[in-house]
Amino acid sequence: MEIRVSSGTTSYLGLNDSKCMEYPSTAYLLLPGAPCRGGCIYCPQSSTHGRWLSRVSWPSFDIDDMIDPIKESDLKRICIQSPDVEGYDDRTLEVVSALETTGKPISVSAPPLSKEVLQKLQDGPVDYVGIGIDAVTNELRAKTKRNYSPIVFWEYLGDAIEVYGLNHVTAHMIVGMGENLEQLAHAVYRASKSGARVSLFSYVSKGNEPDLSYYRKAQLLTHLIEEGRNPNDAISFMANGKKYIEEHFENGEPFRTRGCPGCNRPYYTTRPGKEHRNYPRQPTWEEMQKIMKDLG
Ligand code: SF4
Repeated sequence: MEIRVSSGTTSYLGLNDSKCMEYPSTAYLLLPGAPCRGGCIYCPQSSTHGRWLSRVSWPSFDIDDMIDPIKESDLKRICIQSPDVEGYDDRTLEVVSALETTGKPISVSAPPLSKEVLQKLQDGPVDYVGIGIDAVTNELRAKTKRNYSPIVFWEYLGDAIEVYGLNHVTAHMIVGMGENLEQLAHAVYRASKSGARVSLFSYVSKGNEPDLSYYRKAQLLTHLIEEGRNPNDAISFMANGKKYIEEHFENGEPFRTRGCPGCNRPYYTTRPGKEHRNYPRQPTWEEMQKIMKDLG
């Protein structure tokens, strides 16, 4: 059975000679089968030669050749992503059962799955599900995620929380698609109140990406809301809470990759050598100075 593996994961497992400055702490796998039927305008998987997903290339392997390297590694998790292709639900079940022998906890990030399939996955080694909310407003989602109704992923999020419970579902949100911080805050609050964690991705398409200062504010706002504040409190806190932020976030927690435990996604939305958008580890003191400067 063919499976695609992120170049960082293959490098970490020694399946090629390339070296990385930052290594994943999760094995990122992708079901083959582009083009994806989703038609998301920012995603290379919606075109025939979908070699890339975000900024990452995904060479193909036989899944049997992946089991021992992952099993023997100290990777904390496996993340299986699926494009919207024929039979993606059955194939996701097949891949999960093939990887069960690795003994690693598994996250699945796939287009809408039925509650029956979600339950079957949970009966196996899947303990987290990632949901592609992507654009944070229905209007932007309708324009950018063209082949789905703009509300279907919020409904899917609700189904997944019913099956997996609180804080075991991550809502993937893309920052920089034309929304403002208030719209982002309301989407984060909605997901958090529903019992999901929020996982941020910096928009990247054809060289376009949001301003770093805006992205840092989006990260901080998300963290403040996940700490239990409502959108207005979080926004005003960001404006007035400089001292609190400096004292409480010197470890850089708000600026690290958010999502399932063990997910760090190095270089997913950052070119190697450039300043990380989502830090795959604790930022250094120097990096924190730059972050604070960008927050203004
Ligand atoms: S948060 Fe990370 S591990 Fe979890 S589904 Fe998303 S990409 Fe995968």
